[in-house]
Amino acid sequence: MLELTGLNNQKILIQSSVVNKLFTYIQRTSDKPESGGLFIGKSFTGDILQIEDITYPISGDRQSKFYFFRSSKHGELIEDIWEQSGHIKTLIGTWHTHPEDKPTPSCVDIKDWKKIISNNIKLNINFIFAIVGIKITVFWQNNNGNFIQIGEIDNECYN
Ligand SMILES: [Zn+2]
Repeated sequence: MLELTGLNNQKILIQSSVVNKLFTYIQRTSDKPESGGLFIGKSFTGDILQIEDITYPISGDRQSKFYFFRSSKHGELIEDIWEQSGHIKTLIGTWHTHPEDKPTPSCVDIKDWKKIISNNIKLNINFIFAIVGIKITVFWQNNNGNFIQIGEIDNECYN
């Protein structure tokens, strides 16, 4: 289990299986396109967020070396999971890969993150946004429109 301290001392728990799934999409070779999806998990009172699963590239997405477009199917999957879990498992954030060692968000990423936040205000969750670089994976959270890095892991040294 990966444990991060989020904004306002929120405890963020990310299952190892999630980290290992993310690592399968690392753009280690130049022919590998960007990938992405959503984080699925639980939000507990007492300010704990637990990421238990991800959605990953599916038909309808658009992928190239420097671009990933996440189709609306990811959101539909989350809706299904929300219903099937008796309104327990929900959207916790997003992830995608970058073909750079230590990733930084692009303006397109920031726009997408802001859209996720504004479209899901009713969930009242401070979402986690991750970019999986070639060497480092970085996690951010929103603080009044600014995205603050809350953690990073060295892909080689994790596990
Ligand atoms: Zn990006």
